[in-house]
Amino acid sequence: MPILKETPKEAEIVSHRLMLRAGMIRQEAAGIYAWLPLGLRVLKKIEAIVREEQNRAGAIELLMPTLQLADLWRESGRYDAYGPEMLRIQDRHKRELLYGPTNEEMITEIFRGYIRSYKSLPLNLYHIQWKFRDEQRPRFGVMRGREFLMKDAYSFDIDEAGARRSYNRMFVAYLRTFARMGLKAIPMRAETGPIGGDLSHEFIVLAETGESGVYIDKDVLDLPVPGTEVDYDGDLTPIVRQWTAAYAATEDVHDGSRYEREVPEERRIHTRGIEVGQIFYFGTKYSESMKALVTGPDGVEQPIHGGSYGVGVSRLVGAIIEACHDEAGIKWPDAVAPFTVAILNLKQGASDTDEACERIYRELSAKGVDVLYDDTDQRAGAKFATADLIGSPWQVMVGPKGLAEGKVEIKRREDGSRESVALEDAVARLM
Ligand code: ATP
Ligand code: MG
Ligand code: MG
Ligand code: MG
Repeated sequence: MPILKETPKEAEIVSHRLMLRAGMIRQEAAGIYAWLPLGLRVLKKIEAIVREEQNRAGAIELLMPTLQLADLWRESGRYDAYGPEMLRIQDRHKRELLYGPTNEEMITEIFRGYIRSYKSLPLNLYHIQWKFRDEQRPRFGVMRGREFLMKDAYSFDIDEAGARRSYNRMFVAYLRTFARMGLKAIPMRAETGPIGGDLSHEFIVLAETGESGVYIDKDVLDLPVPGTEVDYDGDLTPIVRQWTAAYAATEDVHDGSRYEREVPEERRIHTRGIEVGQIFYFGTKYSESMKALVTGPDGVEQPIHGGSYGVGVSRLVGAIIEACHDEAGIKWPDAVAPFTVAILNLKQGASDTDEACERIYRELSAKGVDVLYDDTDQRAGAKFATADLIGSPWQVMVGPKGLAEGKVEIKRREDGSRESVALEDAVARLM
């Protein structure tokens, strides 16, 4: 865990600074990062939440490769249209490949290889895979990388009504996904961009450092997020309607006169935000050009109606830090913390503190808690600073003075509150 003392000069925003200082990532080239052990733990936790919520909503995981054939993209017409953001590669046989920036073409190719009938629909397939986009200005660390991890799901339906149900399922899954990470991500009407289509929402976390300007009605901040009991086979339109009724739009599609008409002045918020996900309904855009046809109930072949649904898994690591930090460092929400508990041995090498720390470490590990034991021989002050920087929700401080009375100190990182507890109660207190 290579902790940096100095603030790295190249980092413009707080999440990037903290990720470098906490030793979470290392830049290997512009916008290309190695994930160091601490960073990788967070990335994996975010990925696991995304996966759970995709599965809960009925999507099915597969894994497509990072490299794709150019010819596949010629079928949809996007090989030429995509422009310099696409990294184009040639293999030894001079065959043209590309590092996938997204996977509509490939999933459509897989779909048409197997699915022939409406009876196999609806279908939603997703993967969590690295993407490459040769961004003009990679910056803000993992927030705008060139290589980045994305969850992308693709839905297939026989008609528009079915596709809208699939869209709604992802809409609700996204509400749950981001809330579980401790984020308020607001769905906003959005432009569809190069993916095409006519219905789209971006999920945006409000932050001054965000790259999108947004206009919202303050009321959307207090809307309820559906719980685990939500029925993905039922009618989700009331939830979607509730979340899309209040005004929330990015500046690209902002309608100033509607905003002023619908939102009273005291409820208007004009700020910036980070796009952590986007969902699209694009109809038959790919199925027509790429011939993804199924027979309907009437026996007639027709192009499927598609949607695609992205989550910026690696960008979320930065977005969560933007939302959860103070001057001392990161304050991880419990669900994504690399370690839930950090044990600080304030006198390494003393038999009583070593023994107490090892005992707490063993007991917490046995209970499946992610626990980090700071057994370095740094002085107490340095251990406090490191623990605050890396931001475990709980710290257990074990020092000779407390132990003489059979006590250890527990600190909650979120609010700095401290509590002295008996050594034998410490583990129970943390569960
Ligand atoms: P942006 O507007 O930030 O360029 P995008 O609209 O081009 O993103 P999408 O095609 O909607 O991105 O991809 C789905 C998600 O992937 C985005 O919502 C975002 O969270 C993430 N993402 C896109 N580009 C990057 C990137 N360069 N680095 C990290 N994450 C990214
Ligand atoms: Mg982009
Ligand atoms: Mg965008
Ligand atoms: Mg987008």
